[in-house]
Amino acid sequence: MGNLFTARGTSADRKELRLSNGGTDVLFDVITLAGCPLAESSWERNLVLHFADGHRIGFGWAGFDLSSLPWTANWPAEKAFLLRVLDLAITRHGWERLTYDPPFAAASLRRYHAMVDRWPAPIAVRTPAPREDWRVPPPRDHLDRCPEHAVYQGMLGCRLCDPWIQPIPGT
Ligand SMILES: [Zn+2]
Repeated sequence: MGNLFTARGTSADRKELRLSNGGTDVLFDVITLAGCPLAESSWERNLVLHFADGHRIGFGWAGFDLSSLPWTANWPAEKAFLLRVLDLAITRHGWERLTYDPPFAAASLRRYHAMVDRWPAPIAVRTPAPREDWRVPPPRDHLDRCPEHAVYQGMLGCRLCDPWIQPIPGT
């Protein structure tokens, strides 16, 4: 089982990232750590919550195509925000708050950054559920920060406090 992240519409070879479930948890942890201090608009906060709450229910179903995110007409700025989050994550922002050393996270982040960077624009894709509107502010309590890890609690509680998703050290 694993998760496939794609960037359809990209002609370059780097248009997908396949991660194990453990690798997905790690990627979402480090994106959440970098995203919380950067997010300002509702759209940006919803994007970070997508990772904070992601891969918590339904292991192996957290992969998504970039075009399936609810981009708006303002998507170039939204894409730039995602790249800024990935840039900050690549600097190992907040990794001292992790209980494990993520040996492959930097490589996953660089690969995902390259995919997002080369992705030209959203394309029409069918999504299993109606797309949310991320311009709508998320519930306030979802933005409460974990006192220990300083990341959004999200709908499901702090992901760094969740023993079900924290990888076993050494795996
Ligand atoms: Zn926490």
